[in-house]
Amino acid sequence: MDQNTLSDTIHFDGIGLHTGLKVNLELRPAKENSGITFYRKDLNKKIKANWKNVMSTKFSTNLGTNNCSVKTVEHLLSAFAGLHISNCDVIVDNEEIPIMDGSSKLFVDEILKVGIKNQNIKQKAIEIKKKVRFDCDYGFGELLPNTQNEEGLNIFLQSSFDGKYEDQTINIENLNGGYPSKISHARTFGFFNEIEYLKSQNLIKGGSLDNAIVIKDLKPINPEGLRYKNELMRHKVLDVVGDLYLSGLPIIGKYNGFKTGHYITYNLLKELFKNENNYKIINSN
Ligand SMILES: [Zn+2]
Repeated sequence: MDQNTLSDTIHFDGIGLHTGLKVNLELRPAKENSGITFYRKDLNKKIKANWKNVMSTKFSTNLGTNNCSVKTVEHLLSAFAGLHISNCDVIVDNEEIPIMDGSSKLFVDEILKVGIKNQNIKQKAIEIKKKVRFDCDYGFGELLPNTQNEEGLNIFLQSSFDGKYEDQTINIENLNGGYPSKISHARTFGFFNEIEYLKSQNLIKGGSLDNAIVIKDLKPINPEGLRYKNELMRHKVLDVVGDLYLSGLPIIGKYNGFKTGHYITYNLLKELFKNENNYKIINSN
């Protein structure tokens, strides 16, 4: 596979889920081997999309260095990973990526509309060679080498919503190509009885039924219902795909997780990069 960027610049405007702040977002084509870079136009600073620049992972993945942060980067990164966009400059005039409809659908639609540009240079990938695992008190994530009959990135997640929603599992085999239809429409979600807590933590100031599923008594209160029967689990895959892209390259291997979130996937990447024997950088096919 070759490296890709966008064929043209794309503009979005929206609000941040947690800050509630208005933000203009611009996605610009970027040169080969440059990766994904966030630019804070208002501060004249930039941050690479890399796990080393993660500032916090509480309810969203936030990057930051030197008094400059870009928050809630995971859904946009998920769209880039899912569409194999290797290089892109992301310009914002405020501190949070707009939440749009709570999924990565609008990013994917607009990128596909302007087109993806092949840059005629090989894309490298991270092939998982040894099992790496991160455990915390409520869940875990692990990366494993693919078995002989597995290709690309495979994701198997389990969750337990503790009586708030039916327990669910999801198994995505070789995500390649399936991302726009299988994953990108899945919206972020929250539980009705946790909304007050999140607000008290100064979070979800921009949250509404236009950009999140809210579950009450095991059902969504959104009038339109769910976009997929297992939309919550598909969103967990969307988040995993976005957070894994902070590795800087596509990953070839298998991700297993229980109750995964930004904290687990970020710490799993830290484990992965602790030992060079855990992975190999290869030219992807
Ligand atoms: Zn999410």
